[in-house]
Amino acid sequence: MGAYYDEIEIEDMAWDEEKRVYHYPCPCGDRFEISRRQLANYEDIATCPSCSLIIRVVYDPLDFEDEPPDDDGDESEESEEESGSEEESFEDALENLHISEPQPRQVASTV
Ligand SMILES: [Zn+2]
Repeated sequence: MGAYYDEIEIEDMAWDEEKRVYHYPCPCGDRFEISRRQLANYEDIATCPSCSLIIRVVYDPLDFEDEPPDDDGDESEESEEESGSEEESFEDALENLHISEPQPRQVASTV
């Protein structure tokens, strides 16, 4: 139909490491999304899950041709990365708690 909301170059879209999709902000407040697998399949329409708008993604299919099309490999890779990064951010949060918690009390008692 050719009724795209916009045409966006792949370079202008952001990569979501967790969901493994390229995304771009939608005027409705949500975002357009398209996966690497869709790009590898020569699909160039990114959709917004919250409204009916679509955008055309301008990209070179040759850049995505080598992407493995099988679902299994993708899933196992995803879960491994998820558990790893979760642990890391949890430790970071603990460290931040230790550092920041006693400080306000010290300041309060000296003043
Ligand atoms: Zn939208």
